[in-house]
Amino acid sequence: MRCCGNTRRATRRGFLAAAAGLALARPTLAGTAPRVVVVGGGFGGATAARALAQAGIDVTLVEGSATYTAGPFSNAVIAGLQPIAAQRFGYDRLGAAGITLVRATATGIDPAGRRVTLADGSGLAYDRLVLAPGIDLRFDALPGYDEAAAAVMPHAWKAGEQTLLLARQLDAMPDGGTVVIAVPANPYRCPPGPYERASLIAHVLKTRKPRSKLIVLDAKDAFSKQRLFQAAWAALYPGLLEYVPLAAGGQVTAVDPAAMTVQTDFATYKADVASIIPPQRAGRIAGLAGVADRSGWCPIDPVTFESRLVPGIHVIGDAAIAGAMPKSAFSANAQAKVCARAVADLLAGRAPEEPKLINTCYSLVAPGNAISVAGVFHPVAGILADVEGAGGTSPLDAPDAVRAQEAAYAEDWYRTITAEVFG
Ligand code: FAD
Repeated sequence: MRCCGNTRRATRRGFLAAAAGLALARPTLAGTAPRVVVVGGGFGGATAARALAQAGIDVTLVEGSATYTAGPFSNAVIAGLQPIAAQRFGYDRLGAAGITLVRATATGIDPAGRRVTLADGSGLAYDRLVLAPGIDLRFDALPGYDEAAAAVMPHAWKAGEQTLLLARQLDAMPDGGTVVIAVPANPYRCPPGPYERASLIAHVLKTRKPRSKLIVLDAKDAFSKQRLFQAAWAALYPGLLEYVPLAAGGQVTAVDPAAMTVQTDFATYKADVASIIPPQRAGRIAGLAGVADRSGWCPIDPVTFESRLVPGIHVIGDAAIAGAMPKSAFSANAQAKVCARAVADLLAGRAPEEPKLINTCYSLVAPGNAISVAGVFHPVAGILADVEGAGGTSPLDAPDAVRAQEAAYAEDWYRTITAEVFG
């Protein structure tokens, strides 16, 4: 997918920028209009590319895949509640929105020369670069868990083939089987995601394989929406779902895909189906660009999302260290808009304004039954911190009608964000 700009696009950009009250970016010293390259066309990168194009900036989006498969609602695919087709989105509409699309994997970045290298050896020059590569799974972090093991014990933490594999394994498991989910320590993509997965797998077992058991092994003691999840599990899945926190020996120390065993310091669990969610880090290109620190994630300025390590490169979405903001599609989308505005300001020689960002994460605990957490974030002492008193979680004692309404909101949110980003 490669498409090119034209004069109509330039005129339209000017119109959109004027309509949005945004000043067009200053020419660079070389006398050409400034160019921004965005690497990664997920919720973060695709949103940033759109916002930059709307600000009248010459933007190129580099994305390795022809189709994007969304993470939100992928747990519903695993439980057979949603077809994978509902997760898949193309990039054609972004091309029509005035973005130059390059379907390629970025393999290197030269920050001094301001150039991105692509897998075919060609390059793209930039004045500013936005990196939104999402996550890589750390296949070096958990003994026994490498890429080959993931084909047996799916992480399903990058939606797509892994999601379908876990769905098939669950479907094929005989009644009376044991499912094990391993959850990593923080930070990782989508903090409540493993517990939503546990809830929906428990729903599958309860309704289709009632003699089966689900064991959730957690490398921590506290997690997002914990009281809400645990109240739902007690009400909906008593005796079926066993949760083992770190303090009770929940940290997985090794796996053996041949024996289908999952080991902790206290016990060895034999699984019929095992979903192992390993520790993660920013997508590989972040490390190659030098914007990831020793944690594997990317420290950023909370006003501009510019890397603290390499000037001229901005990092958004899951790859960034965004303080109190969780790694979610909602966050990536919000960060992308703030970052695009800051990039437009910096290119035009204006000082970016201090932002406020919002995140809401819905989780299904059963079909038509959802809980949520919301937060507002702002820069404090160089990091994104919670705005005190803003946001919160669903009430613990909400009636079924409220939970059903939240499930409807979750679907509306997914429809809206995917239409905004890819539609
Ligand atoms: P991604 O969406 O992963 O996008 C990164 C893109 O970059 C990919 O398309 C990749 O192909 C591309 N890329 C990477 N490296 C390169 C390269 N070198 N060259 C070219 N392209 C490259 N979030 C929510 O808000 N709500 C939810 O309910 C929710 N549920 C979830 C449930 C599950 C099971 C999972 C796994 C995730 C869930 N999430 C949810 C989290 C959400 O999916 C991520 O937070 C979000 O996708 C992050 O967006 P991103 O743009 O940072 O990364």
